[in-house]
Amino acid sequence: MKRKLKLLLLLSLSVFLVIIILKKPKNSIPESIEQEARIALGHFPELNGIPIEFKFKKNIKKSVMQAQPTWSGLLKPKNKRSYVILISEKFKISGEEFKTVDVPKDVLIGWLGHELGHVMDYQQRGNLNLIGFGIRYVLLKEFIKKAERAADSFAVSRGMSEYILKTKRFILDNSEIDETYKTRIKQYYLSPDEIMEMVKELDSIKGNG
Ligand SMILES: [Zn+2]
Repeated sequence: MKRKLKLLLLLSLSVFLVIIILKKPKNSIPESIEQEARIALGHFPELNGIPIEFKFKKNIKKSVMQAQPTWSGLLKPKNKRSYVILISEKFKISGEEFKTVDVPKDVLIGWLGHELGHVMDYQQRGNLNLIGFGIRYVLLKEFIKKAERAADSFAVSRGMSEYILKTKRFILDNSEIDETYKTRIKQYYLSPDEIMEMVKELDSIKGNG
């Protein structure tokens, strides 16, 4: 009896893995954010041809958006990787719920640009490193800071500083946004001042070259 159970378990696990591996990666953007996503994607020509699925989710803990590699991609060689960017349908401002699609266009572009910055970061990592990334992100605050700042930096270096700044200001200057979310943004992300500093540096490099 026990042996049968084990066999059944092993069989269903294999079927599950095969389904994951065979699952075709999607490349899709919901219509309601298509314009904004295209503008953000336009800043990352390196990501051309890499399947990225933008997908709404009812609710995401602690954040508005989340970029992740797909499981099927992680089980394949690095060049077959695909990603999903989850977008919370709603977020809270002083206890009241707002729709993410209702935020100003540029703020949304900045938000999406930050997520694509994560994808850029993931693209430079091997599969095992990426799995380690997920574990460290959950366990180490210092690591969250590193990852979030890397994502911001990628977006800024791709010419998205105006959008990223608008997103930050939308959050930090909005007296009605939850204090816990603001604290998180201050704790882990680049500050508006640091972004301006980065832009200056990038401009001086460009100016010299
Ligand atoms: Zn992030």
